[in-house]
Amino acid sequence: MAKFLEYQGKEYFRQNGIPTPEGAVANTPAEAKAIAQKLGKPVVVKAQVQVGGRGKAGGVKLANTPEEAEKVAGEILGMNLKGLLVKQVLVEEQLKIAQEFYAGIIINSAQDVRGPVLMFSPDGGMDIESVPADRIATLNVDVIKGLKPYDTLDMAASMGVSGNVLRGVGDIVFKLFHMFQKMDCRILEINPLVATEDNKVLAADCRMAVDDQALFRHPELGIKIGREFLKEPTDIDLMGWTFEASDFRGTSYIAEMASPAEVAEGGYVGYHGIGGGAAMLGMDALNKVELKVADYADTSGNPTASKVYRTTKLILSQPGIEGYFLSGFMMANQEQWHHAHGLVKALREELPSKPGFPVVLLLCGNKEKESQKILKEGLADMNARVEIYDREHVYDASFIAGRMKTLVDEYRKEKSAA
Ligand code: GDP
Ligand code: MN
Repeated sequence: MAKFLEYQGKEYFRQNGIPTPEGAVANTPAEAKAIAQKLGKPVVVKAQVQVGGRGKAGGVKLANTPEEAEKVAGEILGMNLKGLLVKQVLVEEQLKIAQEFYAGIIINSAQDVRGPVLMFSPDGGMDIESVPADRIATLNVDVIKGLKPYDTLDMAASMGVSGNVLRGVGDIVFKLFHMFQKMDCRILEINPLVATEDNKVLAADCRMAVDDQALFRHPELGIKIGREFLKEPTDIDLMGWTFEASDFRGTSYIAEMASPAEVAEGGYVGYHGIGGGAAMLGMDALNKVELKVADYADTSGNPTASKVYRTTKLILSQPGIEGYFLSGFMMANQEQWHHAHGLVKALREELPSKPGFPVVLLLCGNKEKESQKILKEGLADMNARVEIYDREHVYDASFIAGRMKTLVDEYRKEKSAA
């Protein structure tokens, strides 16, 4: 899912008429100070990372002066929050909180629902999972009939919201649902939705994730890769994503794991897994024989030959790799001959320009006999350093990785002799 940081989500809140505290994002303590100065009132400084529970983990701090804002921003920036490095903080006007609510929408994909579920609780500010069920109102929204403004008012009233803030809460929850639909979200959550001492209602936090399959409808979001991606994508990552974005039959995934400079130091192979678990297993086996993976790739879910072909070509394009490893450590029920065809075409095109380049292929499962025949016949005349294995070795990861290591060593020796 394409996830957004709090400050990005709040920008979309404002565009959709949902009030938020005034503020801006800072990359340095000095910037935080300047923002606090401009706001001219006490602020809250909040770590911008994609995890919940930042408050408890020390990622949300109050500051009463610009100097204090600078100081706490210095404490939060660079901190490790649940495994993530904090690079930005949001500096916002402090709210005088009278009440904290929870409002959120998710897609419930259960057979009997298959649609958006709106949730509202008067016990905001804490993890919604820890709120008792009788303190959460839920509504499965019928997307054909749609939601009416009185639905969200009723919902809030049923949970005891009354008086001056009822209208504000109902209005925001109603707008939240429309934003959820308009932006093709999978998750959209305000926790806490705050009522202030002077009866204003504002979104004090935002959790937002957009459905990857809908990103093509939202170029305005500027998301280059419709997957969870915590780093700036590289050229290889971006190219790999085009295979997926242009063809949803089966899955092809590729992520660059080592920079070209690291690969140049030696010991890296191009890595091609089939299925997540099998891919992990193969990577482990390679690491045990002191080989590293330049990339992580996975073609599974019955991909087409063309997807396998393109992925294989991209893996082989990584400069400095000393081998190619197809990690098919599973009896896949997808038809493996598509893999065989894609691999043969890519290897036939690439190997002639890489004399002696080691290739180890493990492929088994459905249509295995046919696949093995395609691989063996397709590569027979290549005079290349290729070894092909089937189900006989599917439980023998250390043997297969050992073969890769032996071939890489041979290849290196030849290269250094030449
Ligand atoms: P999370 O812990 O990652 O969900 O981060 P939140 O944005 O929800 O902040 C955690 C808590 O900090 C909230 O539940 C509030 O109690 C508190 N908080 C956030 N903003 C303000 C503010 O402007 N004023 C005050 N007094 N407390 C705030
Ligand atoms: Mn929160």
